[in-house]
Amino acid sequence: MADPKLLKQIEAFVGREYGRVYAWDQVNAPMIRHWCEIMGVDNPLYTDPAFAREAGFDDIVAPPAMLQVWCMGGLDNENYAPGSTDENSFEVLKVIEGYGYPAVVAVNTELSFERHVTLGETLYYTSHVDSISEEKTTGLGTGFFVTLAMPFYSKSDSGTDEKVGELMFRVFKFKPAHAAKPEEKAVKKDDKPARMRPLPGVSDDTRFFWEGCEQNKLLIQRCTSCQTLRHPPAPVCIECHSFDWDSIEASGQAKLYSFVVMHYPEVAPFDHPNPIGLIELEEGVRLIAGLVGVDPKNLEIGQKLQVEFNRFDDRQTLPQFRPVA
Ligand code: ZN
Repeated sequence: MADPKLLKQIEAFVGREYGRVYAWDQVNAPMIRHWCEIMGVDNPLYTDPAFAREAGFDDIVAPPAMLQVWCMGGLDNENYAPGSTDENSFEVLKVIEGYGYPAVVAVNTELSFERHVTLGETLYYTSHVDSISEEKTTGLGTGFFVTLAMPFYSKSDSGTDEKVGELMFRVFKFKPAHAAKPEEKAVKKDDKPARMRPLPGVSDDTRFFWEGCEQNKLLIQRCTSCQTLRHPPAPVCIECHSFDWDSIEASGQAKLYSFVVMHYPEVAPFDHPNPIGLIELEEGVRLIAGLVGVDPKNLEIGQKLQVEFNRFDDRQTLPQFRPVA
């Protein structure tokens, strides 16, 4: 049960308003173009004035999903445009933390829009605490969902600013659930059927590779027009754009090009720490595979490896790599 003193304090935060945060720049075409390029958005409504006029607008409009971008602080933390508030609209999180809820995780955001914003508009947003849930227990732990609402406005010379959209931002401020002790874990393992390894997503482009593994063969795709090898499998040769390909069987001799060792999160059924290699085959292509028979602390870039095929859950065979002397 949450401390009644805390509940009283956080109740007082609900509805609290915080000041304006202004955009550094007016809504402008270069920022829109850069955003569209980065996000892979190619709607001409955002970049082609003639198209936008045809669609009934005076000029190009900004992508609605870009709303939050206009008022961001820039590369340096807290570097907000002149006139912006320096209040911390998340101050309630500090209060909750003071009662023993140290962890925080962003849960979700929702954007809603009133209308398109157009070139030359100056935007700002304000914030208020929309809601704080009662104490809840989730898989992560026990704590409070805090939702902040940020309505965005277009500043008007006449003084009647118009709301153009709203961002809802929800975080969970919580006491982490106790991690299971090793003996508890052991008991659980016996209770439940063992988790199986996830199966790879197999497509028409990759099927030959997985079928090769089932026959203990490491197959590499080869362009039959220019003989270039490629991995991961793909429909087109990146050198000559040919769709024609076959495959060759790799020797399985390789070296360690790079690696990571997964410590956390511990995901069944994998052993942890879990060493994973970026393997360079002697044929020249690289692939990602699990490393076996290694001490994760003593992995060395460039060390020699040899493929082996291991069967899991009686339903899939995976290539893994083991050091050779
Ligand atoms: Zn080719």
